[in-house]
Amino acid sequence: MSENHPPAYPLAGDGEGSQVSLEAGVMRRRDFIRTGASGLAGAALAAAGCSRASESQNTGPLGNLRSATPQDLRGLVGDGRRRRILLRGGVVLTLDARLGDFEKADILIDGKTIAEIAPNISASDAEIVDCSGTIVMPGFVTTHHHQYETLQRSMIPDGLLQGSWPQESYGSVVQNIWTAGRVADPQNPNSFVWDLGRSPYDPEDCYISELVACLSEISEGITTGTDTSQSSHTPGHTDAMIKGLIDSGRRMVYAYTGGIDRSADGIAYEFPGAMNDTTKGIGRIAKTYFSSKDQLVTLGFGGGPGLAAPGSEYTGWQLARAFGASLHNHNVGGSAVVINAAADARNGNDWSDVTFIHCTRWQDEAIAQISYGSNGYPKDNKSKAWDIWRDRGAHVSIANLIEMQMRHGMPPFQQALNHGILPSLSPDVDTNMTTDPFSLMRGAFCLQRALANDLAFPESNPGRLPVPQLLTSR
Ligand SMILES: [Zn+2]
Repeated sequence: MSENHPPAYPLAGDGEGSQVSLEAGVMRRRDFIRTGASGLAGAALAAAGCSRASESQNTGPLGNLRSATPQDLRGLVGDGRRRRILLRGGVVLTLDARLGDFEKADILIDGKTIAEIAPNISASDAEIVDCSGTIVMPGFVTTHHHQYETLQRSMIPDGLLQGSWPQESYGSVVQNIWTAGRVADPQNPNSFVWDLGRSPYDPEDCYISELVACLSEISEGITTGTDTSQSSHTPGHTDAMIKGLIDSGRRMVYAYTGGIDRSADGIAYEFPGAMNDTTKGIGRIAKTYFSSKDQLVTLGFGGGPGLAAPGSEYTGWQLARAFGASLHNHNVGGSAVVINAAADARNGNDWSDVTFIHCTRWQDEAIAQISYGSNGYPKDNKSKAWDIWRDRGAHVSIANLIEMQMRHGMPPFQQALNHGILPSLSPDVDTNMTTDPFSLMRGAFCLQRALANDLAFPESNPGRLPVPQLLTSR
C-alpha cells in the first residue's frame, strides 16, 4: 500500500496542458528565489565577520549588511572538491566513539574529506571559519521528505491522512486539489466535482519548492536528505525537481516517483520507464543526470517490488537496480507486500539497498503494539514482515510526528528494536508539521518511553508483558 501516491483517477474533461517552460516570464519566480537566497547568504557572511561582506554598498541603518554578489557566492555551493576549510575553535561533537568530543577544537576539511580534528590545527592555505561559541557536529540526515509539498507548508495542520472532500485531509487537499488538480465525488470516485485539467504545479513550482525545502532543511542542520518526489507529472516536472536539488548544493537522493498520468489528454507522461531504454523514465534521467556515483545528488526509485508496469516481465525493483537506483517505498499496513516481495526471486535476497517508509501495522496479530518477546500478551506476538526485514538487511524510515498526527498507525519503534533494527527518522511532509529534526527526535524518545513506561503499571499491563528497555538520551 502506498499512501502518498496521488490517486490515479480517470480523467474527466480537457486540460490545457501542464508543460510550462522554465524560461517563460519576464521576472521569473526562480530569479526571485535566487535573489532571496543571495540576501540570506549575504547576511550570513556579514554575521560571520567575513571580510568580503565589509565592502559595504549600503550606508543606511543596516550598516555593512548588503546582498551578496555572484562573486561572493562562487564556490559556496557544489561539491567543493578542491576547497580546504578550517572550522576553528568550536565545541566539537564528533559522534564517533574513537574520536570523542572536544570542548574546543578545529576541524580541517580537505576537499571532500575531514582530514583532521584536533585543537589548534595550522593550515594557512585554508579558508578559516570562526566557530567559537558554536557547536560543530555532523549534519542530520533525513530519509523521506516530499519536497515538492514544501510550498504547501501548514496547509492542513489538523488534517488526517485520508478523507473525502469537503473534509480537509491530506488526501483531499494536498493530493487531490494541489497535486492532481481534481476532486473526486465522494459518492462516485470515478467522477469529479472539480477538475482543473492539469496539476496546479508547473515545473517551475516544483523547482522552487525543492530549493525552498533544501534551504529550510539546511537551516535546520539537515545536510543530507531523500526527496521522495511524487510530482513527476511530465518529464519537465521531473527535470525541474532534479535541477532544484542540484542547484541547492545539498547532498540528496532523488527518489524518482510517478505523478498524475494525464497522457489520455495528450500530456506527456513517462514514469516509470522501461528496461534497457534510456529515452524515457528512469532510464532517461539515469543517463542524463546520474551517470556518476561521485556526485552530491544520486538516484533512487519509488516503484515497488511488484511488476514495474502492467504487463512488465520484471519488477519495479529490478528496473531500478538495472539503472543503479536505491529503493524507497511507502508501506502503511502492508505486511503482505513484504511477504509477497520475499517470495519473488526476482527481488533478490540482499535488501540492503531498500528502505521502507512508515512500516506501521505489520504485526500478525492486530493487538499489542509493544509485542515484546515470545511470551507476551495476549499470546505470542510475531510479525513475518519484520522477520523478513531483519533477515534481508533492509532499512526502516519512521515519520513519527506525521504518523501520530495523521493516523498512519503507531510509529513502530518498539517493533523495529525488537527485531534488532535501528530505524531512521523522517519528516515526510511540511503540510501538517515541522520538519525540525529535534522535534522528530524528542517525539521518538517520548513515544517509546511512554509506551514502555505505561507497561510498568499493573493496571496497564494485565498480561505481565516485560517492560522494554527505555530509549535514553545518550
Ligand atoms: Zn511519504
